[in-house]
Amino acid sequence: MRASQRIANITGGGDDGWGLFYKARAMIAAGAPVLELTIGEHDIRTDPRILDEMHRAAKAGHTGYASVPGMESLREAVAQRVSRQTGVATTKANVLITAGGQAGLFAAHHATCDEGARALFIDPYYATYPGVIRGVGALPVPVIARPEDGFQPKAAALEAVAPRASSLLINSPNNPTGAVYSQATLDMIADIATKQDLWVISDEVYDTQIWSGQPLSIRALPRMAERVLVVGSLSKSHAMTGSRIGWVVGPEEMIAHMTNLATHITYGVAGYIQEAGLYALSLGAEFEAEIAAPFRRRRDLALARLEGQSAIRATPPEGAMYLMLDIRATGLSGEAFGHALLEAEKIAVMPGESFGQAAAGHIRVALTLPDAPFEDAFGRLVDFAKALAK
Ligand code: PLP
Repeated sequence: MRASQRIANITGGGDDGWGLFYKARAMIAAGAPVLELTIGEHDIRTDPRILDEMHRAAKAGHTGYASVPGMESLREAVAQRVSRQTGVATTKANVLITAGGQAGLFAAHHATCDEGARALFIDPYYATYPGVIRGVGALPVPVIARPEDGFQPKAAALEAVAPRASSLLINSPNNPTGAVYSQATLDMIADIATKQDLWVISDEVYDTQIWSGQPLSIRALPRMAERVLVVGSLSKSHAMTGSRIGWVVGPEEMIAHMTNLATHITYGVAGYIQEAGLYALSLGAEFEAEIAAPFRRRRDLALARLEGQSAIRATPPEGAMYLMLDIRATGLSGEAFGHALLEAEKIAVMPGESFGQAAAGHIRVALTLPDAPFEDAFGRLVDFAKALAK
Protein backbone atom coordinates (compact mmCIF):
# COMPACT_ATOMS: atom_id res chain seq x y z
CA MET A 1 0.00 0.00 0.00
CA ARG A 2 1.20 3.49 -0.79
CA ALA A 3 1.07 6.57 1.46
CA SER A 4 -0.39 9.76 -0.01
CA GLN A 5 1.98 11.95 -1.99
CA ARG A 6 1.24 14.80 0.36
CA ILE A 7 2.37 13.01 3.50
CA ALA A 8 5.30 11.28 1.81
CA ASN A 9 6.52 14.70 0.63
CA ILE A 10 6.39 16.50 3.98
CA THR A 11 10.12 16.27 4.56
CA GLY A 12 10.92 16.91 0.90
CA GLY A 13 13.29 13.90 0.83
CA GLY A 14 17.07 14.16 0.87
CA ASP A 15 19.31 15.28 3.73
CA ASP A 16 17.67 17.96 5.86
CA GLY A 17 21.00 18.89 7.47
CA TRP A 18 20.00 17.47 10.86
CA GLY A 19 22.51 14.58 10.67
CA LEU A 20 24.82 16.41 13.05
CA PHE A 21 22.09 16.82 15.65
CA TYR A 22 21.23 13.11 15.52
CA LYS A 23 24.93 12.21 15.72
CA ALA A 24 25.32 14.33 18.87
CA ARG A 25 22.23 12.71 20.41
CA ALA A 26 23.63 9.23 19.61
CA MET A 27 26.95 10.17 21.25
CA ILE A 28 25.09 11.36 24.36
CA ALA A 29 23.07 8.12 24.45
CA ALA A 30 26.38 6.22 24.32
CA GLY A 31 27.59 8.17 27.35
CA ALA A 32 29.80 10.86 25.73
CA PRO A 33 29.90 14.23 27.59
CA VAL A 34 28.58 16.32 24.68
CA LEU A 35 27.65 19.96 25.31
CA GLU A 36 24.54 20.75 23.29
CA LEU A 37 24.09 24.17 21.74
CA THR A 38 21.59 22.87 19.22
CA ILE A 39 17.84 23.22 19.73
CA GLY A 40 15.79 26.10 21.10
CA GLU A 41 14.96 24.81 24.52
CA HIS A 42 15.62 26.60 27.83
CA ASP A 43 18.08 25.19 30.35
CA ILE A 44 15.39 25.71 33.01
CA ARG A 45 12.08 23.87 33.30
CA THR A 46 8.56 25.29 33.57
CA ASP A 47 8.09 27.44 36.71
CA PRO A 48 6.68 25.37 39.62
CA ARG A 49 3.88 27.90 40.14
CA ILE A 50 2.61 27.19 36.61
CA LEU A 51 2.86 23.45 37.27
CA ASP A 52 0.92 23.87 40.54
CA GLU A 53 -1.84 25.62 38.61
CA MET A 54 -1.84 22.82 36.01
CA HIS A 55 -2.21 20.31 38.84
CA ARG A 56 -4.91 22.31 40.60
CA ALA A 57 -6.87 22.66 37.35
CA ALA A 58 -6.64 18.97 36.60
CA LYS A 59 -7.76 18.06 40.14
CA ALA A 60 -10.61 20.58 39.82
CA GLY A 61 -11.94 18.62 36.86
CA HIS A 62 -10.47 20.33 33.78
CA THR A 63 -9.72 16.94 32.29
CA GLY A 64 -12.68 16.58 29.93
CA TYR A 65 -12.98 17.87 26.37
CA ALA A 66 -12.19 21.57 26.44
CA SER A 67 -13.78 24.21 24.22
CA VAL A 68 -12.21 23.88 20.76
CA PRO A 69 -11.30 27.47 19.93
CA GLY A 70 -9.93 27.68 23.48
CA MET A 71 -11.34 28.79 26.85
CA GLU A 72 -12.99 32.19 26.62
CA SER A 73 -10.88 33.51 29.52
CA LEU A 74 -7.63 32.46 27.84
CA ARG A 75 -8.64 33.84 24.45
CA GLU A 76 -9.59 37.06 26.22
CA ALA A 77 -6.20 37.19 27.98
CA VAL A 78 -4.34 36.63 24.70
CA ALA A 79 -6.47 39.31 23.01
CA GLN A 80 -5.68 41.79 25.79
CA ARG A 81 -1.95 41.02 25.61
CA VAL A 82 -1.95 41.53 21.83
CA SER A 83 -4.01 44.76 22.08
CA ARG A 84 -1.63 46.08 24.75
CA GLN A 85 1.53 45.18 22.86
CA THR A 86 0.45 46.27 19.37
CA GLY A 87 -2.29 48.84 19.88
CA VAL A 88 -4.54 46.87 17.48
CA ALA A 89 -8.04 46.33 18.87
CA THR A 90 -8.26 42.56 19.34
CA THR A 91 -11.04 40.50 20.93
CA LYS A 92 -11.40 36.84 21.77
CA ALA A 93 -13.14 36.37 18.39
CA ASN A 94 -9.73 37.06 16.83
CA VAL A 95 -7.99 34.31 18.82
CA LEU A 96 -7.73 30.55 18.35
CA ILE A 97 -5.82 28.53 20.96
CA THR A 98 -3.62 25.87 19.32
CA ALA A 99 -1.34 23.02 20.33
CA GLY A 100 1.76 25.23 20.27
CA GLY A 101 2.87 27.71 17.65
CA GLN A 102 3.59 24.74 15.41
CA ALA A 103 -0.10 23.80 15.07
CA GLY A 104 -0.78 27.52 14.54
CA LEU A 105 1.66 27.61 11.61
CA PHE A 106 -0.07 24.61 10.07
CA ALA A 107 -3.56 26.05 10.60
CA ALA A 108 -2.54 29.43 9.16
CA HIS A 109 -1.15 27.85 5.97
CA HIS A 110 -4.15 25.52 5.70
CA ALA A 111 -6.41 28.54 5.92
CA THR A 112 -4.59 30.65 3.34
CA CYS A 113 -3.20 28.27 0.69
CA ASP A 114 -5.11 26.20 -1.84
CA GLU A 115 -3.68 22.97 -3.24
CA GLY A 116 -0.58 23.85 -5.30
CA ALA A 117 -0.53 27.49 -4.09
CA ARG A 118 2.84 29.25 -3.87
CA ALA A 119 3.67 29.91 -0.22
CA LEU A 120 6.66 32.19 0.36
CA PHE A 121 8.99 31.97 3.36
CA ILE A 122 12.23 33.73 4.26
CA ASP A 123 15.47 31.71 4.01
CA PRO A 124 17.27 31.16 6.50
CA TYR A 125 14.20 29.62 8.09
CA TYR A 126 12.98 27.61 11.08
CA ALA A 127 13.38 23.97 10.14
CA THR A 128 9.70 23.00 9.93
CA TYR A 129 8.55 25.77 7.56
CA PRO A 130 8.88 24.01 4.18
CA GLY A 131 7.35 20.83 5.64
CA VAL A 132 4.35 22.74 6.99
CA ILE A 133 3.81 24.28 3.56
CA ARG A 134 4.14 20.94 1.76
CA GLY A 135 1.92 19.40 4.44
CA VAL A 136 -1.03 21.55 3.35
CA GLY A 137 -0.38 20.73 -0.31
CA ALA A 138 1.21 24.08 -1.18
CA LEU A 139 4.55 24.81 -2.84
CA PRO A 140 7.29 26.30 -0.62
CA VAL A 141 9.10 29.22 -2.31
CA PRO A 142 12.14 30.65 -0.46
CA VAL A 143 12.98 34.36 -0.37
CA ILE A 144 16.68 34.75 0.39
CA ALA A 145 17.72 37.15 3.19
CA ARG A 146 21.48 37.63 3.00
CA PRO A 147 24.02 37.82 5.84
CA GLU A 148 25.43 41.08 4.39
CA ASP A 149 21.97 42.65 4.89
CA GLY A 150 21.86 41.51 8.51
CA PHE A 151 19.39 38.81 7.32
CA GLN A 152 16.70 41.45 6.68
CA PRO A 153 14.77 40.47 3.52
CA LYS A 154 15.03 42.97 0.67
CA ALA A 155 12.31 44.21 -1.70
CA ALA A 156 13.96 42.90 -4.89
CA ALA A 157 14.08 39.32 -3.59
CA LEU A 158 10.45 39.45 -2.46
CA GLU A 159 9.17 41.20 -5.58
CA ALA A 160 10.76 38.53 -7.76
CA VAL A 161 8.52 35.78 -6.34
CA ALA A 162 5.47 37.61 -4.91
CA PRO A 163 3.27 37.72 -8.04
CA ARG A 164 0.72 34.87 -7.94
CA ALA A 165 1.82 33.75 -4.46
CA SER A 166 -0.85 33.18 -1.80
CA SER A 167 1.05 33.76 1.42
CA LEU A 168 4.28 35.01 2.94
CA LEU A 169 5.61 33.60 6.20
CA ILE A 170 7.88 35.88 8.23
CA ASN A 171 9.50 35.38 11.62
CA SER A 172 10.80 38.23 13.74
CA PRO A 173 12.64 37.94 16.12
CA ASN A 174 14.12 35.33 13.85
CA ASN A 175 15.15 31.77 14.36
CA PRO A 176 17.87 30.98 13.29
CA THR A 177 19.49 34.39 12.66
CA GLY A 178 18.44 36.53 15.65
CA ALA A 179 17.40 39.29 13.22
CA VAL A 180 14.58 41.57 14.36
CA TYR A 181 12.88 43.16 11.38
CA SER A 182 13.21 46.93 11.25
CA GLN A 183 10.29 49.27 10.70
CA ALA A 184 11.58 49.76 7.13
CA THR A 185 11.61 46.01 6.47
CA LEU A 186 8.09 45.57 7.84
CA ASP A 187 6.84 48.58 5.82
CA MET A 188 8.38 47.08 2.68
CA ILE A 189 6.78 43.67 3.36
CA ALA A 190 3.39 45.27 4.10
CA ASP A 191 3.59 47.28 0.88
CA ILE A 192 4.39 44.27 -1.33
CA ALA A 193 1.85 42.05 0.46
CA THR A 194 -0.84 44.66 -0.16
CA LYS A 195 0.07 45.19 -3.82
CA GLN A 196 0.24 41.45 -4.50
CA ASP A 197 -2.73 40.62 -2.27
CA LEU A 198 -0.77 38.18 -0.09
CA TRP A 199 -1.70 36.80 3.29
CA VAL A 200 1.11 37.47 5.77
CA ILE A 201 1.70 34.79 8.40
CA SER A 202 3.79 36.42 11.12
CA ASP A 203 5.51 33.97 13.46
CA GLU A 204 6.08 35.98 16.64
CA VAL A 205 6.88 33.17 19.07
CA TYR A 206 10.06 35.01 20.19
CA ASP A 207 8.30 38.32 20.86
CA THR A 208 9.55 38.49 24.47
CA GLN A 209 13.19 38.02 23.45
CA ILE A 210 14.20 41.38 22.01
CA TRP A 211 17.57 42.84 22.97
CA SER A 212 16.99 46.43 21.91
CA GLY A 213 13.91 48.49 21.10
CA GLN A 214 10.29 47.44 21.21
CA PRO A 215 8.66 44.42 19.55
CA LEU A 216 7.06 45.42 16.24
CA SER A 217 4.18 43.40 14.83
CA ILE A 218 3.32 43.73 11.14
CA ARG A 219 -0.34 43.36 12.15
CA ALA A 220 -0.11 46.85 13.66
CA LEU A 221 0.73 48.54 10.34
CA PRO A 222 -2.11 50.41 8.57
CA ARG A 223 -4.73 48.08 7.01
CA MET A 224 -2.64 44.99 7.72
CA ALA A 225 -4.87 43.41 10.41
CA GLU A 226 -7.20 42.16 7.65
CA ARG A 227 -4.42 40.18 5.90
CA VAL A 228 -2.15 39.10 8.78
CA LEU A 229 -2.33 35.94 10.87
CA VAL A 230 -0.02 36.15 13.89
CA VAL A 231 1.29 32.91 15.37
CA GLY A 232 2.16 33.07 19.08
CA SER A 233 3.15 30.61 21.78
CA LEU A 234 3.98 30.20 25.45
CA SER A 235 6.83 27.80 24.61
CA LYS A 236 9.66 30.34 24.48
CA SER A 237 8.18 33.21 26.50
CA HIS A 238 7.21 31.08 29.53
CA ALA A 239 9.51 28.03 29.17
CA MET A 240 6.49 25.84 28.42
CA THR A 241 7.77 24.01 25.32
CA GLY A 242 6.36 20.64 26.37
CA SER A 243 2.90 21.94 27.25
CA ARG A 244 2.10 22.56 23.58
CA ILE A 245 0.11 25.76 23.89
CA GLY A 246 0.01 28.66 21.47
CA TRP A 247 -2.42 30.67 19.35
CA VAL A 248 -3.28 32.29 16.06
CA VAL A 249 -4.57 35.87 16.02
CA GLY A 250 -6.34 37.08 12.89
CA PRO A 251 -9.58 38.21 11.23
CA GLU A 252 -12.68 36.72 12.87
CA GLU A 253 -13.82 34.72 9.82
CA MET A 254 -10.38 33.13 9.46
CA ILE A 255 -10.43 32.16 13.14
CA ALA A 256 -13.82 30.50 12.51
CA HIS A 257 -12.34 28.50 9.60
CA MET A 258 -9.30 27.47 11.65
CA THR A 259 -11.60 26.47 14.52
CA ASN A 260 -13.24 24.01 12.08
CA LEU A 261 -9.79 22.68 11.25
CA ALA A 262 -8.90 22.30 14.94
CA THR A 263 -12.20 20.44 15.53
CA HIS A 264 -11.10 17.89 12.96
CA ILE A 265 -7.48 17.50 14.05
CA THR A 266 -6.86 18.05 17.75
CA TYR A 267 -10.33 18.78 19.14
CA GLY A 268 -8.76 21.51 21.22
CA VAL A 269 -6.01 21.84 23.79
CA ALA A 270 -6.22 20.13 27.21
CA GLY A 271 -8.21 22.25 29.68
CA TYR A 272 -5.65 21.98 32.51
CA ILE A 273 -2.92 23.17 30.12
CA GLN A 274 -5.09 26.12 29.09
CA GLU A 275 -5.71 26.99 32.76
CA ALA A 276 -1.95 26.85 33.36
CA GLY A 277 -1.43 29.03 30.27
CA LEU A 278 -3.92 31.58 31.62
CA TYR A 279 -2.07 31.66 34.92
CA ALA A 280 1.29 31.95 33.11
CA LEU A 281 0.03 35.02 31.22
CA SER A 282 -1.16 36.54 34.51
CA LEU A 283 2.47 36.56 35.74
CA GLY A 284 2.95 39.50 33.38
CA ALA A 285 5.84 41.17 31.57
CA GLU A 286 8.18 40.96 34.56
CA PHE A 287 8.07 37.16 34.52
CA GLU A 288 8.55 37.12 30.73
CA ALA A 289 11.62 39.36 31.10
CA GLU A 290 13.01 36.97 33.73
CA ILE A 291 12.69 34.00 31.37
CA ALA A 292 14.36 35.95 28.54
CA ALA A 293 17.20 37.46 30.61
CA PRO A 294 19.69 34.54 30.47
CA PHE A 295 19.70 34.60 26.66
CA ARG A 296 20.57 38.29 26.58
CA ARG A 297 23.36 37.69 29.11
CA ARG A 298 24.85 34.80 27.12
CA ARG A 299 24.53 36.75 23.88
CA ASP A 300 26.60 39.54 25.45
CA LEU A 301 29.15 37.07 26.84
CA ALA A 302 29.56 35.50 23.40
CA LEU A 303 29.86 38.81 21.53
CA ALA A 304 32.53 39.96 24.01
CA ARG A 305 34.44 36.70 23.43
CA LEU A 306 34.38 37.32 19.66
CA GLU A 307 36.17 40.67 19.92
CA GLY A 308 39.72 40.92 18.54
CA GLN A 309 39.63 37.84 16.31
CA SER A 310 38.69 37.28 12.67
CA ALA A 311 38.03 33.53 12.40
CA ILE A 312 34.34 34.01 13.26
CA ARG A 313 32.07 36.86 12.28
CA ALA A 314 28.74 37.38 13.96
CA THR A 315 25.69 39.32 12.90
CA PRO A 316 24.90 40.49 16.46
CA PRO A 317 21.47 39.04 17.21
CA GLU A 318 18.80 41.58 18.12
CA GLY A 319 16.50 38.92 19.51
CA ALA A 320 15.76 35.20 20.08
CA MET A 321 17.94 32.57 21.74
CA TYR A 322 20.56 31.98 19.05
CA LEU A 323 23.76 33.31 17.49
CA MET A 324 24.36 32.86 13.77
CA LEU A 325 28.11 32.76 13.17
CA ASP A 326 29.92 33.09 9.86
CA ILE A 327 32.77 30.53 9.93
CA ARG A 328 33.80 30.81 6.26
CA ALA A 329 37.26 32.09 7.28
CA THR A 330 38.00 28.56 8.52
CA GLY A 331 37.63 27.25 4.96
CA LEU A 332 34.91 24.81 6.06
CA SER A 333 31.19 24.58 5.38
CA GLY A 334 28.91 24.92 8.41
CA GLU A 335 28.31 21.20 8.27
CA ALA A 336 32.02 20.23 8.08
CA PHE A 337 32.85 22.67 10.88
CA GLY A 338 30.05 21.24 13.03
CA HIS A 339 31.24 17.66 12.58
CA ALA A 340 34.87 18.61 13.28
CA LEU A 341 33.87 20.58 16.40
CA LEU A 342 31.74 17.71 17.69
CA GLU A 343 34.54 15.22 17.23
CA ALA A 344 37.35 17.38 18.62
CA GLU A 345 35.60 19.31 21.41
CA LYS A 346 32.37 17.36 22.06
CA ILE A 347 30.40 20.54 21.41
CA ALA A 348 27.28 20.25 19.25
CA VAL A 349 25.97 23.18 17.17
CA MET A 350 23.63 23.31 14.17
CA PRO A 351 25.11 23.78 10.68
CA GLY A 352 23.72 26.86 8.93
CA GLU A 353 22.93 24.65 5.95
CA SER A 354 20.12 23.00 7.93
CA PHE A 355 18.27 26.34 7.85
CA GLY A 356 18.49 26.92 4.10
CA GLN A 357 20.97 28.02 1.49
CA ALA A 358 21.35 31.61 2.74
CA ALA A 359 23.01 30.35 5.94
CA ALA A 360 25.65 28.16 4.22
CA GLY A 361 29.10 28.65 5.75
CA HIS A 362 27.51 29.51 9.09
CA ILE A 363 26.74 27.71 12.31
CA ARG A 364 23.89 28.41 14.70
CA VAL A 365 24.72 28.39 18.39
CA ALA A 366 21.77 28.09 20.78
CA LEU A 367 22.27 30.11 23.98
CA THR A 368 20.86 27.27 26.01
CA LEU A 369 23.51 26.19 28.52
CA PRO A 370 23.89 27.84 31.95
CA ASP A 371 26.26 30.82 31.84
CA ALA A 372 29.48 29.16 33.09
CA PRO A 373 29.41 26.05 30.85
CA PHE A 374 28.17 28.22 28.00
CA GLU A 375 31.10 30.61 28.34
CA ASP A 376 33.52 27.70 28.53
CA ALA A 377 32.03 25.91 25.50
CA PHE A 378 31.87 29.12 23.48
CA GLY A 379 35.49 29.95 24.28
CA ARG A 380 36.57 26.52 23.10
CA LEU A 381 34.50 26.91 19.92
CA VAL A 382 36.22 30.24 19.16
CA ASP A 383 39.69 28.78 19.81
CA PHE A 384 38.86 25.83 17.55
CA ALA A 385 37.86 28.19 14.72
CA LYS A 386 40.96 30.33 15.26
CA ALA A 387 43.23 27.30 14.92
CA LEU A 388 41.50 26.32 11.67
CA ALA A 389 41.65 29.83 10.21
CA LYS A 390 45.42 30.22 10.76
N1 PLP B 1 8.37 29.12 15.23
C1 PLP B 1 9.69 29.21 15.46
C2 PLP B 1 10.46 30.24 14.74
C3 PLP B 1 10.33 28.32 16.34
O1 PLP B 1 11.65 28.44 16.54
C4 PLP B 1 9.55 27.34 16.98
C5 PLP B 1 10.17 26.35 17.89
O2 PLP B 1 11.38 26.26 18.02
C6 PLP B 1 8.17 27.29 16.72
C7 PLP B 1 7.61 28.20 15.84
C8 PLP B 1 7.28 26.27 17.34
O3 PLP B 1 7.09 26.54 18.67
P1 PLP B 1 5.99 25.83 19.57
O4 PLP B 1 6.74 25.11 20.64
O5 PLP B 1 5.14 26.93 20.07
O6 PLP B 1 5.21 24.90 18.69
